[in-house]
Amino acid sequence: MKAVVYNGPRDVSVSNVPDARIEKPTDVLVRLTSTNICGSDLHMYEGRTSFEKGRIFGHENMGEVVEVGSAVDRVKKGDRVVLPFNVGCGFCENCERGFTGFCLTTNPGTAGAAYGFAEMGPYEGGQAEALRVPYGDFNCLVLPPDAQAKEDDYVMLSDIFPTGWHATELAGLRPGESVAVYGAGPVGLMAAHSAMIKGASDVFVVDAHDDRLRLAASLGAVPIDTRRCDPVEEILNRTDGRGTDRGCECVGYQCCDRHGKEANHVTMNWAVASTRATGGIGVVGVFVPQDPGAPDILAKEGKMAFDFGAFWFKGQQIRTGQANVKAYNRQLARLIHTGRATPSKIISHRLKLDEAPSAYEHFDNRDEGWTKVVLKPAA
Ligand code: NAD
Ligand code: ZN
Repeated sequence: MKAVVYNGPRDVSVSNVPDARIEKPTDVLVRLTSTNICGSDLHMYEGRTSFEKGRIFGHENMGEVVEVGSAVDRVKKGDRVVLPFNVGCGFCENCERGFTGFCLTTNPGTAGAAYGFAEMGPYEGGQAEALRVPYGDFNCLVLPPDAQAKEDDYVMLSDIFPTGWHATELAGLRPGESVAVYGAGPVGLMAAHSAMIKGASDVFVVDAHDDRLRLAASLGAVPIDTRRCDPVEEILNRTDGRGTDRGCECVGYQCCDRHGKEANHVTMNWAVASTRATGGIGVVGVFVPQDPGAPDILAKEGKMAFDFGAFWFKGQQIRTGQANVKAYNRQLARLIHTGRATPSKIISHRLKLDEAPSAYEHFDNRDEGWTKVVLKPAA
């Protein structure tokens, strides 16, 4: 089958690989119809993880079930399914408590498992014609009959819509409260969309790209451009000097050579400074353990210059981590089904699998207009 394969830093190709197949009785085999490129893929694409050459990308997957293992009895051939990026077992202590992003069975002792990811288990990605889904009864969300009509909305349930929602949950956002979202990438935009749906009073979105800030405005948020103002001053001015009730960090580690030496930690300090005393901050941006190639010694060692004193004096709470996608998926699917949520609004490109190499390059460069790419392997 064809798949998007990692060959080395900033080098991917669409190559022939062995067909995905049922390996265990609990597996489900899915023919992919949509599979997104994510900002998280860039950590591997840019070459600062242990992702091995030859591995397949893709953790934002949706498709049709083509085969089920002998121990699968809920999911059926022909079902249209979206696959949470976390690979969970459903029966370990963490999965039982809803922390499927920290499954103890699929990737013991570390930070849970995902498809097509470094350090998150051996599972191959879905930027391919087919995908093996372990513990298929648990890991497939079977979609309603409008699955195909709303495919571009439902595919966002695999990661970025629940992740954006998670950012607002970690921050403790309640109706009528204000929130500042750092990053207008797909994740930040989904945090803003979630905040609007939850009834936030004011949503500020901070970035430095016109196309992404325009999308933030179209979702009902106030765009804040770091090229034109100091975002903290601007947010304090717009909240009578008090700061927002909540902050969401949706940037994470950014490659130093492209986004400035301080990009690695500045958003955390901005979030503390622009959030009111005793407010909450949700951090879903991924701070990768280390970047050996970084020019900055802190980034090289996976550390950052976080102003703990300011955070402590403000008595704030910070919560972090991978989204436990399954914990939100059914409710978010209902929001899509009823038309209350339309995460597909941020899609900029729908492309064939063969077009993945140039799509990676444009998305990694943050080229104007390249906000969110959905690959269509069956097209
Ligand atoms: P992205 O890289 O497209 O978006 C990041 C955005 O941050 C870009 O628009 C960039 O211009 C902006 N940015 C960079 N420096 C900034 C700064 N100093 N101030 C404000 N904005 C700045 O990626 P994405 O898909 O939106 O993902 C964002 C982050 O979320 C990544 O770290 C990704 O790995 C992470 N993520 C986490 C989870 C999770 O479960 N926690 C899931 C998906 C993605
Ligand atoms: Zn993702």
